[in-house]
Amino acid sequence: MLTAQTKIGEKICLGLDYKKDTLLALRSKEEFFCPICGESVLLKLGDQRIFHFAHKQGGACRDFYESESNYHMEGKRQLYQWLIRQKIPSVLEYYDRDIQQRPDIMFNYNGKKYALEYQCSTIPESIFIKRTNSYLQNGYIPLWILSSNKILIKKRNIVALSNFQYLFLRTTTSGKFYIPSYCPEKQQFHMVESITPYSTKNAFANHSFYPIKKIDLSDLLEPKMGNQFNLSSWNSENEKFKINWALHPGNQHKSFFHEIYNKNLNLFLLPPEIGLPVHHSLLLQTPPIIWQTYFFIDIIANKNPDDLISLHEINCHLNKRIKKKEIVVRNLSLLEKANPLLAIFDYLLVLEQLGMISRKGDTSYQLKRKISIPKSNREREEAKQIFFQKYQRILLNK
Ligand SMILES: [Zn+2]
Repeated sequence: MLTAQTKIGEKICLGLDYKKDTLLALRSKEEFFCPICGESVLLKLGDQRIFHFAHKQGGACRDFYESESNYHMEGKRQLYQWLIRQKIPSVLEYYDRDIQQRPDIMFNYNGKKYALEYQCSTIPESIFIKRTNSYLQNGYIPLWILSSNKILIKKRNIVALSNFQYLFLRTTTSGKFYIPSYCPEKQQFHMVESITPYSTKNAFANHSFYPIKKIDLSDLLEPKMGNQFNLSSWNSENEKFKINWALHPGNQHKSFFHEIYNKNLNLFLLPPEIGLPVHHSLLLQTPPIIWQTYFFIDIIANKNPDDLISLHEINCHLNKRIKKKEIVVRNLSLLEKANPLLAIFDYLLVLEQLGMISRKGDTSYQLKRKISIPKSNREREEAKQIFFQKYQRILLNK
């Protein structure tokens, strides 16, 4: 830990820059105590780790702080100094006794109280959610920042994200999603933006890197994001994903293969309208190729042109699939309004722009033309070519 008190209650915060000589002199005449449990702590001034305090005795405090890595201690120290430089009132290793939570840093900004958690180790999802909810219920805005060294960039525009990492997903006021992370070694923030998953783990994303000296808190809370989406690499990654997946389907997807087989569908002969990237698809853990196939089977396949599609039936089918765990909703505790229907609405909008359906009032759509199922690879390739030219134009006009 980086904070302690002297016998007379004076606070020593190693988040500020102290010279080693100053600390050696202080250590020779002072005793230090943990501000939380009151136990005696040692001031460690070795060369291996950054200067810190360590509990002598065991207990909850020791379990909490003494497992901290140097990376974590250094990261929270840099984040603290960064806030102080911006004249933002901040407390390092704050302890809220009422809720017994210890955010790495508590700060006040624009009249609001924030709890910053710089998370370097993986903690159980349930603990993440419990802490987040407790902050929210007690008037804090939780600001979870992931350690950058945990993010696996597979290719320039593809990232592998675990369910744990998705928990860090935040939105800007304009509704754009991003995951903030920080690296104390490179002294830079790494923002994972425009996340468009094509499988449970892998997603297309943009990466922005900001040296900590060049960014302020408002940029971290509202990053400016570009959106360069490459449709042809989306297409080729999806094809690769389908092949790998068909070879090694997980147990949870057995029912999917069973069902499409029963409906006379073939994963490799699905129409190009199925498996499209949409903004809110990250609300679902289920890959777009699956949930959009279910949407096709449940809603579109049995309908003829001019038939109506009601929001009520869409909702019913979605809930049934969710109940049967055929569609899995992601746990995103930082997003308050994360309704999985939003992904379906995005998809409906694309189908509307493609001229497949049209809106009829507030609660229904009308099918304009059927989605035709290719009968051979060649037919599919031809349909895909035509489709993607049209689709590209729609994307460019957005
Ligand atoms: Zn303690």
